[in-house]
Amino acid sequence: PGEVGRELVARLEFGKADFVLLDDVSMDEFMENLRIRFEKGRIYTYIGEVVVSVNPYRAMNIYGRDTIEQYKGRELYERPPHLFAIADAAYKAMKRRNKDTCIVISGESGAGKTEASKYIMQYIAAITNPHQRAEVERVKNMLLKSNCVLEAFGNAKTNRNDNSSRFGKYMDINFDFKGDPIGGHISNYLLEKSCPLTLLSSFLSFQLVKGGPESLLRSLHIQKDPAAYNYIKVGGQLKVTSTHPTVADAMKVIGFTGEEVHTVYKILATILHLVGLRIWFYVTLIENGNLVPVLAELLATKQESVEKALLYRTVATGRDVIDKQHTPQEASYGRDALAKAIYDRLFCWIVGCINDIIEVKNYDARIHGKNTVIGVLDIYGFEIFQNNSFEQFCINYCNEKLQQLFIQLVLKQEQEEYQREGIPWKHIDYFNNQIIVDLVEQQHKGIFSILDEACMNVGKVTDELFLQALNSKLAKHAHYTSRKLSPTEKCLEFDRDFRIRHYAGDVTYSVVGFIDKNKDTLFQDFKRLLYNSSNPVLKAMWPEGKLSITEVTKRPLTAGTLFKTSMISLVENLASKEPYYVRCIKPNDVKSPLLFEQERCRHQVEYLGLLENVRVRRAGFAYRQTYPRFLQRYKMISQFTWPNHDLPSDREAVKRLLQGCGFEHDVAYGKTKVFIRTPRTLFTLEEQRAEMV
Ligand code: ADP
Ligand code: MG
Repeated sequence: PGEVGRELVARLEFGKADFVLLDDVSMDEFMENLRIRFEKGRIYTYIGEVVVSVNPYRAMNIYGRDTIEQYKGRELYERPPHLFAIADAAYKAMKRRNKDTCIVISGESGAGKTEASKYIMQYIAAITNPHQRAEVERVKNMLLKSNCVLEAFGNAKTNRNDNSSRFGKYMDINFDFKGDPIGGHISNYLLEKSCPLTLLSSFLSFQLVKGGPESLLRSLHIQKDPAAYNYIKVGGQLKVTSTHPTVADAMKVIGFTGEEVHTVYKILATILHLVGLRIWFYVTLIENGNLVPVLAELLATKQESVEKALLYRTVATGRDVIDKQHTPQEASYGRDALAKAIYDRLFCWIVGCINDIIEVKNYDARIHGKNTVIGVLDIYGFEIFQNNSFEQFCINYCNEKLQQLFIQLVLKQEQEEYQREGIPWKHIDYFNNQIIVDLVEQQHKGIFSILDEACMNVGKVTDELFLQALNSKLAKHAHYTSRKLSPTEKCLEFDRDFRIRHYAGDVTYSVVGFIDKNKDTLFQDFKRLLYNSSNPVLKAMWPEGKLSITEVTKRPLTAGTLFKTSMISLVENLASKEPYYVRCIKPNDVKSPLLFEQERCRHQVEYLGLLENVRVRRAGFAYRQTYPRFLQRYKMISQFTWPNHDLPSDREAVKRLLQGCGFEHDVAYGKTKVFIRTPRTLFTLEEQRAEMV
């Protein structure tokens, strides 16, 4: 009790540790509590079992070994709010109840999602494998190292975040019956391929390579003087987060062969050179032709093939196959598309290799029992920029999906369960965003379908025609509008704009580039070029290059459709697990540890739906359990139930037990489950139990 008492006092001094304890659930009180805690250096606060985190933008001394020990095996309410507590809760649910769990980390760019996911992984690594089994140690090490490799290739400095993940990542960690990690699996979602970021990425890649020995640079035809590559300096100074030796080491530890690592270097160098390759403006010719042999060498293919793939495309006309020369514009487009595609393929290939290596092997469920999973999702939050395009559209759709999952799991299920159990329930109004999810993803009528249709048109395919199609099909939709439909609205400044009323707010998108980005065309000739490389690693990355021109009939799936499909399956997967949430908030746009920008934070609290979350939690019950299982756990604390009860039902027995403890006011009895309103009651029960056993 001493421990609890201290913690309660601490809670008052540093604001309320759980928003559920607010006197009045209003935006003002919520914000006040959030601000006080941030200013007192308490960056984590609960809403029931949800952790709200505010990026401190300074090193916090709360992730060390001693802190880990304090959270290990404890109940959520015994210690100040922390990521470790949620990680421990997910781990306990997995271990004690054999449940698959997942931790969903959301928030906008720079809010602290990736950091949080790393602390969670570290915590899980630290508390498992007490017997130091070598194999488990190896797996843990690889899971942690894989993060480092993915970050090196997938991150870029953006103006919002020095180390922004340009990919969404979902990582499953598999555990054996002892609760020790035995493997994992990573899925990545939509690495941003649009041009400026490719340039940034290739710059990072260049730095990566540059840190290497001179002989390596020479073999890659990379000059030591960075000025030679000033064409990739986009907007100011770039920071480098990973250096050659650490990433190369991490790759080797994970199990990449020397040849594979070297091929990765060659591919990075290829991108670097490709971005610097110039096509004449008036005629289809390569201006700096000296790069052609360099590319041919790096790609292990013939000079003529490289040149031809860059300047011509093979087309089948009836029975004939002819080489048609690109216009200079087509050739430039092709070159950029190739650079992006190579990078994308490289990233996916790296993820694939990591998965091959970390996947669970030799696990026989018949012998070892069920292998359980904790999933950690770190995925980009809502994005609203000055100019929003296809990428923001995808990202924001993803967040609508996650919000829908949250609503279904936390809000709807909660209400439905009370109804099922016959417990009186005051209805809570919340905005159900399913209508927006449908607007984007519905078959035939949704925006992705309309986009695909526009891309398939024969003849002229333009972004403007796509916008026309949207306008004619969605004119009546309450969450869609455009300049054509509402000409007087100020934020729809241009004829190319359309606007979606997202659950988080209105976002205006420009249709410019939607068609190209959705088609994501890479001329078939490039695929054949790379498939015909005599470097086996490179060849393996481009299996579809095997088809000859006359065999290629199927239209590749569009980027939008691929993204939609992967989001739908991600959400299905998450829905099958017991979810825990971390909601990250970015306190200001200048990376200051002192500044709490009220309006910025308030907006994030709004679109994360946090107030609604508190309301449901308050109206609801923190804990519920079926009568038999409740008795199983707590029967020893009451003379009426220990060792057995003679009451007519388990329900009656639980009633008797709780009356005896004086908790009558804090519980409700459903048809099959007992509901406990405040966590502290549960905590006291746990304590009494601990005294008995
Ligand atoms: P996101 O993944 O949400 O875009 P990051 O996790 O990359 O954001 O965090 C952005 C930056 O904020 C980090 O590089 C780090 O400097 C800082 N930061 C985030 N979380 C913490 C934390 N818990 N402690 C200290 N600094 C943090
Ligand atoms: Mg991130």
